[in-house]
Amino acid sequence: MRARLFRILLTLSSLTRPATFRTTPRPSNTTPLKSMTFPFLSALFGTSSTADNTKNTMTSYPDQRTPDEWRAVLSPEQFRILREKGTEPPSSGAYDKHAPASGTYTCAGCSAPLYTAHHKFSSGCGWPAYFDSIPGAVVRHEDRTLGMLRTEIVCANCGGHLGHVFKGEGFATPTDERHCVNSVSLVFREEGGEGVKEGAKDGDGKGNGEEQSKV
Ligand SMILES: [Zn+2]
Repeated sequence: MRARLFRILLTLSSLTRPATFRTTPRPSNTTPLKSMTFPFLSALFGTSSTADNTKNTMTSYPDQRTPDEWRAVLSPEQFRILREKGTEPPSSGAYDKHAPASGTYTCAGCSAPLYTAHHKFSSGCGWPAYFDSIPGAVVRHEDRTLGMLRTEIVCANCGGHLGHVFKGEGFATPTDERHCVNSVSLVFREEGGEGVKEGAKDGDGKGNGEEQSKV
């Protein structure tokens, strides 16, 4: 697959080199080639062809807090996961079996709304699963750690690590995608209400059973 991509890229780059290095505008007969080439190239360079709300090349985020500033507002576990791309143990998170009828899951770092209750589904994987995000709220990156090729998802506002997205697993959802998100990265806010912190898990744990019975 990659070899084929590289061959296509090589071919494209040799085809487009004259247009790329041309510094002065040429007659209009060159325009169609340029306008066709660049969108195609950028599509090839993207890490995910499936994303409708992704900005794969985005490397900086509106919320530019430094690691020290994040440490001041996050718990050590939130910092480890959001800022150091950690993972919570499976079936340990407050929102794994959380199934509210309405409400919003926001970023535990910057409070940006990421997912709605409507996006959540029960995957049985041990982490909260969503079939889609709020448009533009989540950015995807290629992740080649651990000897695997995965698609990492981060908060589009602060770059906080959320988890990974998997596609084609056969879940009966509108997208057949699973955003596998750490509960620690999220804060659930009821419709028009205050956020319920991940730290409130113990006090809130009994509620999960009630929520489950609705599923
Ligand atoms: Zn954020």
